[in-house]
Amino acid sequence: MTVSLRVLDDGAWVSVNDAREVSVSELWRLDDPSFCGCDLPDFVVENVLSVGVDGRTVTANVYGQCIGCGETGVPGWVPVGRLSDGKFVDIDRENTVLPVYDGDDR
Ligand SMILES: [Zn+2]
Repeated sequence: MTVSLRVLDDGAWVSVNDAREVSVSELWRLDDPSFCGCDLPDFVVENVLSVGVDGRTVTANVYGQCIGCGETGVPGWVPVGRLSDGKFVDIDRENTVLPVYDGDDR
């Protein structure tokens, strides 16, 4: 089954099968101690750079900012949802989001 993944409106949205599913300005709790000095940084998504899929997990490479300390950057590929029978299923991004790194054993 082919799933269409796109970034729309200059990085404002992740589109899955032509439906806008994930928007910037969401607040994610980032489980990534290397991003900044905060425990579980509260991370505001400012721009979606690219979107991909890893197995059944939809991942996005996003730029954003920790609202705790102001650190900005790109934490890496972050899971934003799942695919189920070719449809997008939201995951709870307001709780801990586990970043995905290139090169990790998965
Ligand atoms: Zn921080």
